[in-house]
Amino acid sequence: MDCIFCRIVRKEINSNIIYEDDTVLAFEDIAPQAPVHILVIPKKHYSTLLDMDQKDKELIGHIFMVIKNIVKQKNVQQSGFRVVMNCNSQGGQTVFHIHFHILAGRQMHWPPG
Ligand code: 5GP
Ligand code: ZN
Repeated sequence: MDCIFCRIVRKEINSNIIYEDDTVLAFEDIAPQAPVHILVIPKKHYSTLLDMDQKDKELIGHIFMVIKNIVKQKNVQQSGFRVVMNCNSQGGQTVFHIHFHILAGRQMHWPPG
């Protein structure tokens, strides 16, 4: 699949990998928007959340447990963090391979931009 994140999964493009297992990869965002900015993706390609269904519930649950482990590893679990998934144009999605952003290390604001 000619997708930038699929290429990162296949190690055809370098990334700073934070965590990897059979189904999930986590790596540092190339243009960090906070002191901690990590992307957590399923290795399997899904363009958007809309491509997931009931059979993917376990994978989504697993991704959230990976996110929990990463924020503890980064020691931001108490100070706080934000988990974001952008979906389609007005959601601000630019890479069409599902990813959760983990943002931490500074004060987050609401409403988001
Ligand atoms: P989106 O806007 O789709 O929610 O987020 C895409 C994210 O992927 C952006 O934060 C962008 O900086 C990041 N990104 C795009 N290309 C690359 C890349 O080649 N390597 C890494 N590590 N991050 C990327
Ligand atoms: Zn992909």
